[in-house]
Amino acid sequence: MSVVVVGAGLAGTACAAELVAAGVPVRVLDRADHVGGRMATRTVDGRAVDTGAAYFTVRDPEFAEVVARWRTAGLARPWTVELRVLGGDVPAARSPGPMRWSAPCGLRSLVEHLARGLPVELGHDVQHVGPGPTVDGEAADTVVLAMPDPQAARILDPVLQAHAAAAGRSWRPVVAVVAGFAERTWPELSAAFVNDHPVVSMVADDGARRGDAAPVLVAHSTAEVARRHEDDPEGAIPDVLKAVSELLGLTAEPVWTRAYRWRFAAPEAGRDVPFLLGGDGVALAGDGWGSSRIETAWRSGTLLGRELARRHTAP
Ligand SMILES: Cc1cc2nc3c(=O)[nH]c(=O)nc-3n(C[C@H](O)[C@H](O)[C@H](O)COP(=O)(O)OP(=O)(O)OC[C@H]3O[C@@H](n4cnc5c(N)ncnc54)[C@H](O)[C@@H]3O)c2cc1C
Repeated sequence: MSVVVVGAGLAGTACAAELVAAGVPVRVLDRADHVGGRMATRTVDGRAVDTGAAYFTVRDPEFAEVVARWRTAGLARPWTVELRVLGGDVPAARSPGPMRWSAPCGLRSLVEHLARGLPVELGHDVQHVGPGPTVDGEAADTVVLAMPDPQAARILDPVLQAHAAAAGRSWRPVVAVVAGFAERTWPELSAAFVNDHPVVSMVADDGARRGDAAPVLVAHSTAEVARRHEDDPEGAIPDVLKAVSELLGLTAEPVWTRAYRWRFAAPEAGRDVPFLLGGDGVALAGDGWGSSRIETAWRSGTLLGRELARRHTAP
């Protein structure tokens, strides 16, 4: 039995890790030149910035063990239990909740850690998954697509069961605007949800979550703004900055800015099963299988990997 996993975000990487541990031959393909997917970290102005997911939470005891290993390796750290709430009717409330974890070197480093030793082939943009199953014409026993539904639907042959499951599911876009300042002119923040705002949905203090106190903010646009700027994410920068400046009472302009577009940031609706494993040998996994978050992606990939390993080792 050989498995091809398409997508080296956390879900695909976790799936492959289970398969390798069980001795199942696997290849992992990703079109990007790095692993991590939406746990995205870019180097901007000489330091790492999280431009995709903002932080993660931990509920599942098994995921907690993975996080403990990341922590021991110096890659993850508990960040904050309290986020602010801005906008709406509440002037500046605080929202207590579960511990939010961050990554000093960026969230991508966590996926890189999990991917160590796995047979990952980067820069491999899969065009077609067909019956058989096949990946760009090459046969496999099972093909796993660990990515947002619209990305999976684009490459799945319509005769496959997985195509019907992925097609037509709607995902929200986001533009992430990163802004570097000469100094911090905002009150203690960690991060803030922004309620009922036409432009911004969240703003995070990247220096606080990274632990280096750099004067860098990352703001996530609303889906409406991201749709308006689908072809020119930089065009969203002025409106997002104006909104952040008003919300936080900034007294200075940023020294530099960047914009990153996520066409498929999060699904409009989740599912209540952790993955799809079709009778035709094609499986779907990722954060679309549950409520969209990092832990869901890990769980989806891990459970699918275990199920495939169980089938492999069954007499
Ligand atoms: C702006 C933003 C904010 C977020 N905030 C949070 C947060 O605060 N907390 C939280 O828990 N989660 C957050 N999330 C969600 C979190 O990032 C995801 O749940 C998680 O990273 C999904 O992992 P995944 O492996 O399912 O998918 P992805 O990370 O999307 O991985 C899919 C991979 O498939 C690859 N791929 C796609 N098509 C192909 C192809 N044809 N051929 C080869 N490779 C392909 C991609 O390159 C990618 O690497 C956020 C996401 C975004 C975008």
